Amino acid sequence: MHAARAVADTRASSGSGVDRMKYQKIGVVGAGVMGIGVAENLATTGHQVIVVDVAEEALKAARIQIDRSLRCAVLWNSGAPREDHSAILDRIAFTTEYEALSAVDFLVENSTERWSIKKEIYPRLDRICPPACVFAANTSAIAISRLADTTTRPDKVVGMHFMNPVPKKKFVEVIRTRLNSEATLLAVKEFLGQMKKEAILVNDMPGFVSNRVLMLMINEAIGVVQDEVASAHDVDRVFVQCAGHKMGPLATADLIGLDTILLTLDVLHESYGNSKYVPCDLLRQMVGAGRLGRKSGRGFFEYSK
Ligand code: NAD
Repeated sequence: MHAARAVADTRASSGSGVDRMKYQKIGVVGAGVMGIGVAENLATTGHQVIVVDVAEEALKAARIQIDRSLRCAVLWNSGAPREDHSAILDRIAFTTEYEALSAVDFLVENSTERWSIKKEIYPRLDRICPPACVFAANTSAIAISRLADTTTRPDKVVGMHFMNPVPKKKFVEVIRTRLNSEATLLAVKEFLGQMKKEAILVNDMPGFVSNRVLMLMINEAIGVVQDEVASAHDVDRVFVQCAGHKMGPLATADLIGLDTILLTLDVLHESYGNSKYVPCDLLRQMVGAGRLGRKSGRGFFEYSK
């Protein structure tokens, strides 16, 4: 896919509501589970979106998945008049060319949860994107200030930890660093408002609030299965039926992606140097065997594609 073509496509197809918004053209880096959800949400709320991934296959799969999801959304929302799903999809350009991000107003980064990958992406974005552009890191656990340090605009790098599936979750865990300016925090509020979302503001430490806690719970739930205390099904039933959770920890792990859980635990272990974050053997084995959860069709549970 060509960058110039991709940008031209998004310009040609901007929706009628776009002109009133301060941040119109949005860059989305990474077309995996989260990039797909962020791009769909942005396009649905009237933004022009440029999705960049290094893998052509990921971009193709992302387009198919967003198309399917938009069609379902139209069916479920049968009561209210809605924009045609193809008009929404037309607002998204998919490309492997980072240069397509040269004129974005705001950027959300959703690449693989690996420091070795993200530390290369931020300086590259810093060179390509306009100086005023805010970078929102949708990382699970990497400290935002560490990412900010790789750029010449540390005041404009903020954490924006979206929940999965993005279009269905109203709240976002926003992570502010000591370096963030008030202008950046205002920009974040306005941008999330445009996405019809609200922020819960927390301070910058690896894993923030959600994953510093959730990853321990999921890892321990996997340990319970490993120790044959109960089946995956019964572990989740205890949380859903007895504790009243909407979803059990293992179904949650399958939704997030077991590969991402493993990488996130590795980041937390490295960051805190505490053995409580060492991933269970069973988790490593499942990831090694390609059982990644929903994204591969099988994790602790089975999913039809
Ligand atoms: P994923 O593995 O599904 O997708 C990651 C994508 O990044 C892949 O398509 C990959 O090709 C792409 N990528 C790798 N290197 C790249 C590069 N240099 N430039 C551009 N793209 C590149 O992962 P995901 O679940 O979408 O997670 C993405 C980020 O969001 C991670 O940091 C993760 O921790 C975080 N996150 C995940 C969840 C979740 O529920 N899965 C929730 C919140 C935050």
